[in-house]
Amino acid sequence: MINVTKTFLPPQNEYQAILERAWESGWMTNRGVLVQELEMKLKSFLGSSHIITMTNGTLPLQIAIKALGLTGEIITTPFSYVATTSSIVWEGCTPVFVDIHPDYLTIDETKIEAAITPETSAILATHVFGNPCAVDVIQAIADKHGLKVIYDAAHCFSVKYKGQSIFNYGDVSTCSFHATKLFHTGEGGALFCKPEYYDRMFYHHNFGHQGQEAFQSLGINAKMSEPQAAMGLAVMPYMSVILNKRENIVTLYNSLLVGTNLSKINLRADTIWNYSYYPVVFKEATQLMVVKKALEACEIFPRRYFYPSLNSMPYVDYVKIPQAEFISERILCLPLYHDLPLSAVETICDIVKRYI
Ligand SMILES: *Cc1c(COP(=O)(O)O)cnc(C)c1O
Repeated sequence: MINVTKTFLPPQNEYQAILERAWESGWMTNRGVLVQELEMKLKSFLGSSHIITMTNGTLPLQIAIKALGLTGEIITTPFSYVATTSSIVWEGCTPVFVDIHPDYLTIDETKIEAAITPETSAILATHVFGNPCAVDVIQAIADKHGLKVIYDAAHCFSVKYKGQSIFNYGDVSTCSFHATKLFHTGEGGALFCKPEYYDRMFYHHNFGHQGQEAFQSLGINAKMSEPQAAMGLAVMPYMSVILNKRENIVTLYNSLLVGTNLSKINLRADTIWNYSYYPVVFKEATQLMVVKKALEACEIFPRRYFYPSLNSMPYVDYVKIPQAEFISERILCLPLYHDLPLSAVETICDIVKRYI
């Protein structure tokens, strides 16, 4: 069976050797030695200075909205995982959807200003599949209108844009370390922010504690645990090998699918990408369904990332968003993971080409 992705599992003895240190310390959580070491290693691996590891990739979105004091309307993309929209609604704000660019699949920055009202407090956009949004244009719009910028960078581990970590753009960026993501801690995630927001974000992720008996602010519990950090530390040494293997697979997909009528994502210039997903866009949704069925009959399970378009969630007021709906009905992510055999890529492409 071939799924759309497969979790990289480090050698068990290496994971256990790291866990041993948690046993020695006697601490399972509350920012023990392993969490501190993981944060240090992430800072240097990613080139991003203000990071707080968290227990998943959704709480950092909610904490960012809460700690930045956002209210009213938040401009966002309908083409993302549901957590982007649900976090906005969960925090009592209203998502205002702006359509996506048909080639980049990120929010269409030229349509943002028209969506700004006196109620708008922020822009929350996704670097979808690790492809950066037009961060410079978005920042200029935010500065002009006094808005905060949050990036859902769940797919962006190790992505660089214009020579630096994509996590360094915006007021806050978030990443997911879920087992299905490129770098993982089982469940897990992180928040990256401008230095001036670090303390605020930190208090919010630990009940607002400022020492044992003083409380600086409202807070929640989003702390990463030691066993989670141990997994991250065990996976970390393999990241360059994982990235290389994924690059080879993507290169093969590209060469086998050349000349077909499938469209591919356009990576923004000046991006060092991370080969996190392999999305293809079909001319028609019916074609997608035929290919998906044919692959499934061979025990190959691609996924419709991202369907449905988030403007059709039952808890938001539906407004038609044409490009996002068009793309989400036609896009399919083909299997991509570190040890996917190249022969499987050939099989997948044969099947795809047979039915389009
Ligand atoms: C995976 C994902 C999340 C949520 O991350 P979790 O770690 O599962 O909470 C948020 N946004 C996007 C775009 C994602 O793909």
